[in-house]
Amino acid sequence: MALLQIAEPGMSAAPHQHRLAVGIDLGTTNSLVASVKSGSAVCLPDEQGRVTLPSVVRYCENTRIESGYDALKAQKIDPLNTISSAKRLIGRTLSDLKQDSHYLPYRFGGSEKIIELQTRQGIKTPIDVSAEILRTLKERAEENLGGELTGAVITVPAYFDDAQRQATKDAARLAGLNVLRLLNEPTAAAIAYGLDNASEGTFVVYDLGGGTLDVSVLQLTKGLFEVKATNGNSALGGDDFDHRLFCQLLEQNGLSQLNEQDSQLLISLVRAAKESLTTETSTTIRATLSDGHTINTTITRQAFHNLTQPLVAKTIEPVKQALKDAGISKTDVKGVIMVGGSTRMLHVQQAVATFFGQTPLNNLNPDQVVALGAAMQANILAGNKSDEEWLLLDVTPLSLGLETYGGLAEKVIPRNSTLPTARAQEFTTFKDGQTAMTIHVVQGERELVADCRSLAKFTLRGIPPMAAGAARILVTFQVDADGLLSVSAREQSTGVQAQIEVKPSYGLDDETITQMLKDSMSNASEDMAARARTEATVEAEGLISAVQAALALDRDLLNEDELNTIQTAITTLENLIQTGNADEIRQAVTDLGHTTDDFAAKRMDRNIKRALTGQKVEDI
Ligand code: ADP
Ligand code: MG
Repeated sequence: MALLQIAEPGMSAAPHQHRLAVGIDLGTTNSLVASVKSGSAVCLPDEQGRVTLPSVVRYCENTRIESGYDALKAQKIDPLNTISSAKRLIGRTLSDLKQDSHYLPYRFGGSEKIIELQTRQGIKTPIDVSAEILRTLKERAEENLGGELTGAVITVPAYFDDAQRQATKDAARLAGLNVLRLLNEPTAAAIAYGLDNASEGTFVVYDLGGGTLDVSVLQLTKGLFEVKATNGNSALGGDDFDHRLFCQLLEQNGLSQLNEQDSQLLISLVRAAKESLTTETSTTIRATLSDGHTINTTITRQAFHNLTQPLVAKTIEPVKQALKDAGISKTDVKGVIMVGGSTRMLHVQQAVATFFGQTPLNNLNPDQVVALGAAMQANILAGNKSDEEWLLLDVTPLSLGLETYGGLAEKVIPRNSTLPTARAQEFTTFKDGQTAMTIHVVQGERELVADCRSLAKFTLRGIPPMAAGAARILVTFQVDADGLLSVSAREQSTGVQAQIEVKPSYGLDDETITQMLKDSMSNASEDMAARARTEATVEAEGLISAVQAALALDRDLLNEDELNTIQTAITTLENLIQTGNADEIRQAVTDLGHTTDDFAAKRMDRNIKRALTGQKVEDI
């Protein structure tokens, strides 16, 4: 059964032609490349038979660049020029990093927009570093498959925002790769599992890697595979477990300040210790520091579990949130898919099993499953499987909308909409004769624009002057399969239009996203009241200006008393706009409406008379 459908025009392969396409898991810690060979996806090994490539790049003396295991080894002796965890930095700014940067040993520089690392080969950006890893994998694949690649599917965490996705694409372009599509990692894992064990129901993908946690709720139904919700934490992964163990080791050995070389050495030793504790019940860390100080510390699995249990517990929060967003309870979950090297830790498996009340699925290699799914996807996109129908759906993490009059945010694409998606909504002008309209694109769940994140602003000009409310402006939001947003606005009668592609320069980390969601929930009733009041005010201001415009034209239809009554009603309403609540303003709007009923009728009579003047009865 075909579970996924992706139709890409012009991508069908000629008969007997097999296009070489790969899936790449560009991980924080490890990267892999996989391809479909003789009908099944396999990870491609290096010359020494290893499939994982440590995501580490070293800028050597002379102009040589090393990546992978060689670079990883050199990290201890050359930490400043050996860059790891570039994925934590890509598409982000120094101010995005805050707590993340303190245990990264690099010389940071750069502008507001991009992070720069000073190396002996000059300034390198996280995009350069990622491009180096991708280039190594591309070469490995071409050697292995014996030809040039048509394209690659590259995976990214579901929570990567536009800037991070764009930066990943830039890195691929630098590496000379044709990106067929960016794919969310949990989705890729589900593809790998979904195709193997095609079954119906709701599944959860729990992906705990070196640097990120990604949780997705997926629904599989007849021939359709849909991501219902995603959540996660881009600053929680195996590295944090290493860091806890590292800090404890320093404490136990009475060490405080370490030089970079020593701290790199100890970090790699604690990581190895952590990994061995998934099979051993205790392990010993032995090291000699550069000042001759020796370390000989034994750690039991139990002690390690006790130390890191709070981190494990922290991973369950995004699981709960994703279930809530998907509108399901944990008992509805048919299976839990474990992805990422860190899910090998026994207390992680236990916590997930306990939470769901079932044993998670882990029959595929948790390190490889993302790359395998990406390879299957690449195979289809390259047109090697043109006769099958596939459908792939991802979701938007936050609602997208625009600012309307009065500083209100109007949602156009709600949070957790499946991608790709496009929605259009009609807006109108607020003022008579208005010829331009500013479209302010915002992201977030709150009612007021001030509480949402501003993504972009552009202006539609050349609207023909019309009465307020007469122009019809169609605003279309489109989010492509990679999660990139473009917005266009078109005035319907003249066809004038303007558009913008949204590539925010600042990244939103998922803590910010979580905070924005929390805020929207805790402030929901306040926001509703504020929205109701703003809407009433907008209505009131509209009515006042309409009545004033009418008075300017046809005041002579009213006697003194009638005029006074109307003006008093206007003043009352104006005062309430300053001080009243939504209900009071609305009541005063209704009152002003009643007060002007007779006046409106008289104006209508006059206008009809004007219109009829000079016309023959038979023309009417
Ligand atoms: P990423 O997707 O972030 O590149 P991976 O899925 O490759 O990460 O997972 C890397 C993480 O998995 C590292 O933190 C590594 O220490 C951890 N890991 C790998 N094997 C084990 C193991 N046997 N026990 C515990 N952690 C492991
Ligand atoms: Mg991963």
